[in-house]
Amino acid sequence: MSKDSIAFIGLGAMGLPMARNLVKGGFAVTGFDLDANALDSLEQAGGKRAASARAAAEGAGLVIAMLPTAAHIRAALEGEGGALAALTDASLFINMSTILPQETDAIAALLAERGLRMLDSPVGRSAMEAERGTLLILASGSGPDKARAQEALLCMGNQIIDCGEVGGGSRVKVVNNFMGISLNALTAEALTLAEACGLSVELALQVMRGTIAGLGHMNITYPNKVLRGDLSAGFQVDLAHKDLGLALELASRSRACVPMGSAAYQSYTAARAQGLGAQDYSAIYPLMRSLAGLPKALPYTVDTPVNADPFGKAAAR
Ligand code: NAD
Repeated sequence: MSKDSIAFIGLGAMGLPMARNLVKGGFAVTGFDLDANALDSLEQAGGKRAASARAAAEGAGLVIAMLPTAAHIRAALEGEGGALAALTDASLFINMSTILPQETDAIAALLAERGLRMLDSPVGRSAMEAERGTLLILASGSGPDKARAQEALLCMGNQIIDCGEVGGGSRVKVVNNFMGISLNALTAEALTLAEACGLSVELALQVMRGTIAGLGHMNITYPNKVLRGDLSAGFQVDLAHKDLGLALELASRSRACVPMGSAAYQSYTAARAQGLGAQDYSAIYPLMRSLAGLPKALPYTVDTPVNADPFGKAAAR
């Protein structure tokens, strides 16, 4: 089967290396960006430049967008010189930008009304992995569309996760970033607190890399407790509330600002108010599900603990 020709719209920190990797993979790539320097760089790498998104998409099999926001995608599709006019039922539009899932749904509907197809395929990891062609690709769309795009996607990434129908990729990307970005802020607070209360950051790192703080609840606490339906106290909500209170007091006395920790304290206070004080502290999860109006039964359970005693007998928390 012959390779699809590719239009690549948005040649920024991510898009340019991704387009370069498509060229390296033997695809004919025509790019468009508002920045002429980005087009120069694509040409130097063996791609072609176009004068508009529409010109790039004319006759292309795959039309890829890697743009900052949904508004930029709308402009590149529906604005003057937009690619929408060049899309046909023989082409496949692939959005790889990170946007609000409802915007993904709306763009997919806009295309579907015209008999056009779309793959929703945002990416995980960063510009360094975009350079190396080792992005994590979160592909969602119809089976035939995913199969058609696979060879091109594997030029840009080394792992494709099937995220179901269009909209699945955008949803999992935003949820993943919610956690990664929030944990970044919490990590900064913890290291700042360590330094502000007189510890060496090196010591704090050494300790926290070996406990749940650094190893992560998704890997340890959740599969061993709440996701097994076990809320018997390994570490009680009451004690977690007490310990987080100690940290907030220490932060106050050390003049460290800890907004993420303060917000988490309110969740443990709410859990105690709901009568969950004697349960395992992972009971915060069913509490949040109940506040979101989700059904009582867990949507996913694991039968076997991942590692029943991850820290050995002298468990540190
Ligand atoms: P960027 O700002 O570096 O690049 C965006 C490019 O789009 C720019 O070159 C800009 O000139 C171009 N552009 C804007 N409007 C345009 C239009 N109408 N037509 C053509 N080109 C246009 O952004 P980036 O870091 O490459 O991010 C792109 C997307 O990827 C974002 O949605 C971002 O959230 C997502 N993402 C970024 C990273 C990262 O580490 N940078 C990682 C994963 C996902």
